[in-house]
Amino acid sequence: MPTRTNPRHWRLLNASTIEALPARLAHARTRANADARKLANADWLIRRKDDGRFIAVRRGDRLLPLFRNALPSVLEDDFTDLAISAANPHGQHPIGGLTDRLDELGLDADDYAQRVGLPLVPEPRSLGFAGFDRYRRPLWLTDPASAAWLDMQRAAREDDVELDAISGYRSHAYQLGIFRRKRERGLAIDDILAVNAAPGFSEHHSGNALDIGTSGEPPAEESFENTAAFAWLCENAAGFNFHLSYPRNNPHGIVYEPWHWCWSAGSVARAEPSASATPVGR
Ligand SMILES: [Zn+2]
Repeated sequence: MPTRTNPRHWRLLNASTIEALPARLAHARTRANADARKLANADWLIRRKDDGRFIAVRRGDRLLPLFRNALPSVLEDDFTDLAISAANPHGQHPIGGLTDRLDELGLDADDYAQRVGLPLVPEPRSLGFAGFDRYRRPLWLTDPASAAWLDMQRAAREDDVELDAISGYRSHAYQLGIFRRKRERGLAIDDILAVNAAPGFSEHHSGNALDIGTSGEPPAEESFENTAAFAWLCENAAGFNFHLSYPRNNPHGIVYEPWHWCWSAGSVARAEPSASATPVGR
């Protein structure tokens, strides 16, 4: 599975505990010379999801570890899982062991789901490259969300409105890592839940949600609602199938998030002025 040259074709391959990114993305970012040599001509970078550490590169059929004992910590099953993702890019991972891992953290998934009225969100098996975010990190979204985001960003720019991405896809493992570290520091579950979505319940796991910002504005602050960018989104985002997930006083009890928008296939499409318009009343 060689990587493609054109960024439009770059993909993140997602397995349960590891993920693979196109090596071309990281060529400019490497510090150590030894790593630079391993990265030269590499196809994929393999990263551990829970702490984000790069553990190996893949060049052709060869897997080269990036530090001593990097690979024994990864099971054969993880690489099989990665191969399944490469073969089924539009599939989703089963929710599987997530509820067990939530139990270990002291969080009852069923109880939480009932309390907030949100479902567990499965992870896609692969994601498309949607450009870079505000911090020059690669932004990963599902293919349709990525296309809609890039269209919407372009349309806004034509109206002299600048939209930038702050955060797109995030994995269960990443969110579990945040929780685990906070629990280890002695924080109570409810205190963590006041500021972080429970792992598995964030729309960001789907690859369809996006935190949007604009220049000169701090990320993820309620003051975003006073910007021209927010006004433009309220007017136009629905035309690109993006919707505000957590308006004021939403039924999930989640704080108002004017920056958080989610793409969905089932939302209102742009009106087609034609004779085949849907009859009134449906
Ligand atoms: Zn968000």
